[in-house]
Formats: sequence, structure tokens, C-alpha cells
Amino acid sequence: MNIALIAHDQKKQNLIDFVTAYKEIFNEHELYATGTTGKLLSKETGLSINRFQSGPLGGDQQIGSKIAEDAMDMIIFFRDPLTAQPHEPDVSALLRLCDVYKVPLATNEASAEILVRGLSSGWLDWRAIKDKRVRYDD
Ligand code: PGA
Repeated sequence: MNIALIAHDQKKQNLIDFVTAYKEIFNEHELYATGTTGKLLSKETGLSINRFQSGPLGGDQQIGSKIAEDAMDMIIFFRDPLTAQPHEPDVSALLRLCDVYKVPLATNEASAEILVRGLSSGWLDWRAIKDKRVRYDD
């Protein structure tokens, strides 16, 4: 599965701790991240991570484009709900696309834990079904 990992600055350590705790599961999947998140995660966990641009420079939109291409199977995005973000429109657009394409999304540790445990139990195997995308052009 292709998994995108993103964290706002105040949540980056939370994401590092989370990915470290579930490293054995994440290690079995293809990982993607926005620029700074990916740099920190690969340094702190040793996992191999494909990096996009930094979030404020378009990384969230790049991940959104992968969702639209049916190339992302799960998004873990630890958002900071207490700090204004200059790229809030990009964040909203990314979350919206998760709903458009029904991509599993977690925005905090509590829900991310359920997704990751579900992933390792095969609950997300339906993601491998070909042509599962919602189509509005048919
Ligand atoms: P960053 O971007 O990983 O480059 O910090 C995350 C974000 O703020 O969307």
C-alpha cells in the first residue's frame, strides 16, 4: 500500500513517535511524506520515505494529486488544530480529496492507530481492488 505521512510542525514529534511505535508495519509499505516531515521521519526511524515538496510549498497538493490518480491508499496527517497555517487551503483540499476518493484518513494518533492496526489485519485489502474509484464522469 502507498501511505502518505504528514505532520504540522507542532505535531512532528508525535508522528515520529507514532511511526517508530509501528515501524514494523510501516516497513512493509511504500511511504511518502511532505518535505520536512519526510526528512525528519527517515532520519529518526531509518525508514525509506519518498519525499514531496514541503507542505507550504505545495507538498500537500502533490499528495492530493496522487489521491486523484488513485495512487495513495492511506493518509496519516497529524494536523495542528491550534495554529493557523499559511497553506490552510491546501490542507483543506487534501482532506476533501480523501473524501472524494474514499481514501482512509487519520488526523490524530487515536484514529491513526486504528487504521494501522486495521492495515496489518488486512482490513484495507479492498484498496487493492482495481477501479474502485468514485467516478463522476461516467
Ligand atoms: P512539511 O509540511 O512536512 O514540509 O513540514 C507539512 C505541512 O505543513 O503540510
